[in-house]
Amino acid sequence: YRRDLVKLKGKAAISQDGIKIHLLANIELLEDAAEAVANGAEGIGLYRTEFLYMNRKGLPSEEEQYEAYSRIVAAVQGPITIRTLDLGADKQVDSGRSNGPTPNNPALGLRAIRLCLKEPELFRVQVRALLRASAHGKVQIMLPMISNLQELRQSQQIIESSREELRNEGYKVADEVPIGTMIEVPAAAIAAPMLARHSRFFSIGTNDLIQYTLAIDRVDDEVNYLYDPLHPAVLRLIHMTIEAGIQAGIPVAMCGEMAGDPRYTRLLLGLGLTEFSMHPANVLEIKRIIIESNIGELKRKVKQLLTSLDPVEMRDLIDGLD
Ligand code: PEP
Ligand code: MG
Repeated sequence: YRRDLVKLKGKAAISQDGIKIHLLANIELLEDAAEAVANGAEGIGLYRTEFLYMNRKGLPSEEEQYEAYSRIVAAVQGPITIRTLDLGADKQVDSGRSNGPTPNNPALGLRAIRLCLKEPELFRVQVRALLRASAHGKVQIMLPMISNLQELRQSQQIIESSREELRNEGYKVADEVPIGTMIEVPAAAIAAPMLARHSRFFSIGTNDLIQYTLAIDRVDDEVNYLYDPLHPAVLRLIHMTIEAGIQAGIPVAMCGEMAGDPRYTRLLLGLGLTEFSMHPANVLEIKRIIIESNIGELKRKVKQLLTSLDPVEMRDLIDGLD
């Protein structure tokens, strides 16, 4: 079975009815980039940079980060979407910062972009490293946990002023470094039409979107039986986000676990998703499903499915997609 999949490596992910889908990889380490390329990913849809900061003493310098990002850019041909620091909640650092009291609800606390905007010196070091790496390839910057326009604007301002600063210091920076928004907070999905006007791309982070929509801690085993990607509320938010992207003419990707799970591929194609980012090991299996799918047909079926108000009926319809 695996051998059959390997044959798909050099093949484009084009559906039966001729729609091209982009398959990208999620990576955390430089070694993962090689695995992504080996599995035929077209680029990186999510580079989680937290690992540069975790399990160590102190914070990584601009130079160290620049080198790490440049190595990934050198190893991968296609676009590389680098997510800015997403520390806090499920991703804690051992040292270097935040010695305050432990919050009661860390997932609702100072994490990701909130932390970066509260500590702009921390953010700037990373942004400068990212912009310098952009001189060597197609780098895109992705902002995690955006919940309002203000955060997006403030981040864009910091990125712009860092670009100016670097240029004045004589560094090369790519002319085009698209800045995109992760849609992983329900408020962002609901306000997607507004955020789309100020974003160059969206990427749906279903791991957090499901956690926040269903009020289920993603790391609490006691409630993981309630963690349901097919909950009608989750599907509606995903649908709204994709539609808002199409309306605004910006690409919408998905980089949560749902994108790499073969049980949901047809459903997501039917919802109009055209960019899937996943663990490198899943790329070929998802490609096979895409190649065998008729997306026009799936869209008709999924449209009907979304009108169902009965979760059990909806699940039956989803299971029946082929
Ligand atoms: C997500 O929330 O879906 C996501 C991709 O980010 P992470 O799992 O790193 O929070
Ligand atoms: Mg997330």
